[in-house]
Amino acid sequence: MDTDTIAAISTPVGEGAIAIVRLSGPEALPLASDVFEGKSLKKVDSHTIHYGKIIDPVTKEFAEEVMVSVMRAPKTFTREDIVEINCHGGLVSVNRVLEIMLAKGARLAEPGEFTKRAFLNGRIDLSQAEAVMDLIRAKTDKAMNVALKQMDGRLSKLIQTLRQELLETVAHVEVNIDYPEYDDVEEMSHTLMEEKTKEVGEEIEKLLEVAAQGKILREGLATAIIGRPNVGKSSLMNTLVQENKAIVTEVPGTTRDIIEEYVNVRGVPLRLVDTAGIRETEDIVERIGVDRSRQVLKESDLILFVLNYNEPLSEEDKKLFEAVQGLEYIVIINKTDLEQKLDLEEVRAFAEGKPVVTTSLIEEQGVDQLEQAIANTFFSGEVDAGDLTYVSNVRHIQLLKQAKQALDDAREAIELGMPMDIVQIDVTRSWEFMGEIIGDTASDSLIDQLFSQFCLGK
Ligand code: GDP
Ligand code: ZN
Repeated sequence: MDTDTIAAISTPVGEGAIAIVRLSGPEALPLASDVFEGKSLKKVDSHTIHYGKIIDPVTKEFAEEVMVSVMRAPKTFTREDIVEINCHGGLVSVNRVLEIMLAKGARLAEPGEFTKRAFLNGRIDLSQAEAVMDLIRAKTDKAMNVALKQMDGRLSKLIQTLRQELLETVAHVEVNIDYPEYDDVEEMSHTLMEEKTKEVGEEIEKLLEVAAQGKILREGLATAIIGRPNVGKSSLMNTLVQENKAIVTEVPGTTRDIIEEYVNVRGVPLRLVDTAGIRETEDIVERIGVDRSRQVLKESDLILFVLNYNEPLSEEDKKLFEAVQGLEYIVIINKTDLEQKLDLEEVRAFAEGKPVVTTSLIEEQGVDQLEQAIANTFFSGEVDAGDLTYVSNVRHIQLLKQAKQALDDAREAIELGMPMDIVQIDVTRSWEFMGEIIGDTASDSLIDQLFSQFCLGK
């Protein structure tokens, strides 16, 4: 526990009529009385206020005209001796007084350190602690907003929020531990910890899912174009490639090189893999049957299923519908420039709510709609590549997994009935892992971090 004497300006910085320098700690009274010309502060009653002058200890000159409040421990905000020096002047005079106190040996308080002492010295009871938590929340929301503006990316934002949740939970439980005389405290702590670790763990899980999308963006969606012969699969392929500047990569394989064509459709990269019959699968069902073709199709992230507007739905088409059932696919009804022989209602009925787009590839019609449908299918049309790439960082994913694991450990400890301080070690670890992601490598302890979020001098 801190035992030195801290000092800070505890009134808002600005042109107030009165500004206060507050001292807290065992040396508060001796330090103040050394520079105070007036009554002996060491002898006055507690909770009294005294007029006098501050004398500069170096020059021995008059510095400020002040009113000094003396509050002795333990009935003070921090439960330590507190001296408040009320200065009449503005910023200059209050700063001079603060400098004098620091020169005398007081230490400049860290942000929130007075409240931290109040908290750690047990000045705040359980119900008040609730209010403090609310205050912390309000303050930190503000502090967070400012900090967040300086950071970019949604990940930082999310990580900050999750860390904050853990921080508050630990602080909350800390209060509970300090008040073992209250009934149910142990149980409350357990419940709270259990809830929060679960909640935050689930959020991390979601982030990891987003990370999987980030991976898709890096590696491309394995895409299969399927349909009966002659419906326009090769034409679709060519259109996508021409419209979207294909990137052809060669991936060295064990038996032979796999040629991938990589096209970027509105931020969604499609990887058209020419292997295992995925790309041109016109006779896939005929060749290997519905079950096997389903297995093959399941390996693709997206299926572009082409039908012919100029022909009625055939048995083969229906088998293909069967093969893609429950998978991610888009129906493309091609050749709309020709006479309609396909029943669109029938197609929609088979398509189980999946997007159905009509095109005439020869006349370059409907390609925009198709591209939009591809984008919508994957990111609900909301997420763009920029938002996702940040989680594709391998280091981030690793740290997220570790943070999640630490929370799982915490919950296991809770289930095993471990003491709260053991549980807190895991929670703190999770907090630290997430801190590494956003580059917050502050060696401060969790509890220091909590209180540093208060305003200076409070
Ligand atoms: P695939 O066998 O499914 O790969 O079909 P292709 O892309 O090779 O196309 C088969 C034939 O249909 C070719 O002669 C294309 O020019 C033609 N075709 C493709 N799209 C259209 C279209 O929208 N309208 C018309 N009328 N013909 C098309
Ligand atoms: Zn073809």
